[in-house]
Amino acid sequence: MPEETVLIRTLPVERANSACGYTQGDWECREGGYLWYAGDGEGYDPEDTSEICPCCRTKDFLEAAKDEAEACSSYSNCGDSGTGVDIWASAEKVALRANPVAAAQALQELGVVAALESDDSPDGYSVVLCNTQTEAIAV
Ligand SMILES: [Zn+2]
Repeated sequence: MPEETVLIRTLPVERANSACGYTQGDWECREGGYLWYAGDGEGYDPEDTSEICPCCRTKDFLEAAKDEAEACSSYSNCGDSGTGVDIWASAEKVALRANPVAAAQALQELGVVAALESDDSPDGYSVVLCNTQTEAIAV
């Protein structure tokens, strides 16, 4: 009996709409390019789109972090706290680790991030310019 040849057809994958396989601890990418918490075994809520996947939706992820960093001078939740600058810095780090190529490109496209940092000034915060070295990173 000759061995049968099995044809595996590769279907075109809509990257933005399917899970890319990215994981970060107990968090996993799901359909739509959002992360969900897989640690509790409860599956995911399709309506929950709060965590954008930094791997397959790198630019959206960084854009969201930019908006947040520019709007929030300090935050604290679940024992974690920091400033807008921290929000941006950690998002940048996550994105560069998850998808270095897309992250470098997105950082260049997004340009300077005017992140907020709480301090003792009358306004309660100051603006810290981040992502100012994109030209250098790109070269
Ligand atoms: Zn993903």
